[in-house]
Amino acid sequence: MTKQSAEYVDDLATKLLKGDRRALARGITLVESIRADHRKMAQALLDRCLPHTGKSIRIGISGTPGVGKSTFIESFGKLLTGEGHKVAVLPIDPSSRRSGGSILGDKTRMEELVRDPNAFIRPSPSGGSLGGVARRTREAMLLTEAAGFDVVLIETVGVGQSETTVAEMSDIFLLLLAPGGGDELQGIKRGVMELADIVVINKADGDLKPAAARAAGEYKGALRLMRPKSKHWKPKVLMISAINSIGIDKLWEAIGSYRTAREAAGELAEQRREQSVAWMWSELRDSLMARFRAHKGVAARLESMEADVRAARIPPGVAAEELLKIFLGK
Ligand code: GDP
Repeated sequence: MTKQSAEYVDDLATKLLKGDRRALARGITLVESIRADHRKMAQALLDRCLPHTGKSIRIGISGTPGVGKSTFIESFGKLLTGEGHKVAVLPIDPSSRRSGGSILGDKTRMEELVRDPNAFIRPSPSGGSLGGVARRTREAMLLTEAAGFDVVLIETVGVGQSETTVAEMSDIFLLLLAPGGGDELQGIKRGVMELADIVVINKADGDLKPAAARAAGEYKGALRLMRPKSKHWKPKVLMISAINSIGIDKLWEAIGSYRTAREAAGELAEQRREQSVAWMWSELRDSLMARFRAHKGVAARLESMEADVRAARIPPGVAAEELLKIFLGK
């Protein structure tokens, strides 16, 4: 890293650690960059920030488009900043790559929260694989913590594997649902239900209230049949009306009970340690794969090898072994 870059990072870190929002935004832009010199600077920035991270509660939120995520985050965020908390909202939107524009983190979605000096809303980084987006979001999360944000909301629409990705970087995972017609449990993947620490039924108001209560009953029944993730927490089902800010305080209380119960048992700290190790492995996998693909010898052989495997001229295992030999120079 050049002297100039080192000075830039030093200045950025000093400001960021004082809670300067513009420095935080610039820091996140840096960790989102894939340029090699930026990666070095981002790493240096993260090193400086690391001792000041980890003090927030990390809340993962998932829900399909239309369930009311932005309405909920607006209402929840305002309740929290009203209590003196500093709230960061980080979206993981793997679909932004395909649609070309991001839906999550769009600042027009949370009009009031976006103007709140104690809230920080980051639009979804666009481009790249879910793994790449996840890495950048994890790093952004560390920076927001270092900047003094004590509640981090990580939001996803739940496309593909993104719920798992969010659950793997959160302390608690909220599954947001809205009452629909008919069989409520249809369409919710069992794996996603298993991730939920709290199932939140939104739109429990007006005409939708009876359907919300019915849905809540069905989800309670379904959760009883699942093996809980923790010995110290049984997943709950809560009803809210985000638009009328009803039930949001009860939900925050439930998050508090969850935190207390699992912290007392040492589970939350253990979960974070395991998440860190898993993160290291995923970084390792990503960078090994990147280097493998960038290797000249491998690149020269890759296409024909794939063709050979496709045509069943070489067994896949043998092909992999040969490519590895080329990569390792054996
Ligand atoms: P998102 O796509 O998950 O972010 O959902 P939005 O927050 O944009 O909300 C989708 C629609 O549901 C909007 O028309 C909201 O006004 C409506 N909505 C959100 N929360 C509630 C609620 O608590 N009750 C009712 N009745 N409608 C809601």
